[in-house]
Amino acid sequence: MLFRREVREARFLSPLQGFAPVVQRVEFRRDPLTGRWSRINLERARRVRQAVGGHPSGLLEESRRGCFFCPENLDRSTPKLPPEFGEERMRRGEAVLFPNLFPFAEFHAVVVLSREHLLPLREFHPGRLGEAVGLSLEYFRRVRGLDPSVGYGMLNWNHLPPAAASIVHPHFQLLMDRTPTFWLEETLRAGRDYRRRRGRNFWLELLREERERGERWIGEGEEVCWLAPFAPQGQNEVWAVFREASCFGEVGEEGVRELAEGLSRVLRGYEELGVETFNLTSFSGPEDGSGRRYHRLSLRVISRPSLRPLYTSDSGFMERFQYEPVVETLPEELAGKLRRVFGG
Ligand SMILES: [Zn+2]
Repeated sequence: MLFRREVREARFLSPLQGFAPVVQRVEFRRDPLTGRWSRINLERARRVRQAVGGHPSGLLEESRRGCFFCPENLDRSTPKLPPEFGEERMRRGEAVLFPNLFPFAEFHAVVVLSREHLLPLREFHPGRLGEAVGLSLEYFRRVRGLDPSVGYGMLNWNHLPPAAASIVHPHFQLLMDRTPTFWLEETLRAGRDYRRRRGRNFWLELLREERERGERWIGEGEEVCWLAPFAPQGQNEVWAVFREASCFGEVGEEGVRELAEGLSRVLRGYEELGVETFNLTSFSGPEDGSGRRYHRLSLRVISRPSLRPLYTSDSGFMERFQYEPVVETLPEELAGKLRRVFGG
């Protein structure tokens, strides 16, 4: 498997060193499946940001007032499922599922994760996450039961406003679509090409290779493996890759348990790194199981900027238009730090 990287050097006279000549190394890395590039410059992590300020915990507290997802308002303020679902809202433990009030998919649900309005990342313990993930899979199953032609489930989590959450109260967003998103389609196409060219499943090759190399390997269970991807598309990116399941419909109870356990560890590790906000998404193949030859289900997490009154977004022209993200965290270092949380 080709992990292609090129180091290019930028030269200038630095005011930080009395205008002496300096060289900064920019590492270009290419994703071994899709060919998508990312650029890593560690110096950027140390650069001066003008947007700084105190932690606005008061602002977050204020968001509690009138929150639609808090238990005292939820029944009154959130939509109900249509009658064909058989119940108005789906529940498991503290997790509650209902339709998104402003959907961007035919089937777009919200899962509120907790009765608590605000939770530090270490409080997303495995039991809580397991209930929410289990409920999500149940929703995907029900949608498929109603309309088997809706073949692509997506589990997503924007946590806190710098990660694009409009509501502070912790919640997943579930989408079920008839067609894959652009990037899932690219990923599936590249997986099919790999299978055709090499006669093997890229994802199983990736797991074997990364496990052997070890430098980006974070941990593994019976069903789910955790690693930092070679060419990350965001800061502190972590992948959960299923050994067997190619889509959500193929995940059983043990898979849910391991996913929740691992995700809980990643969030704990994030908190230790000073991360407060993050995005999570999934790349689930077609629910008819036809992706098993060339695809495996993965979930991906990246960290986003911390909560400050005036913060610098990490999504600029490179990320929004050029699809070539600039990353400030080295996957190999991240894996080393998270391995400790995974007990490795
Ligand atoms: Zn709330």
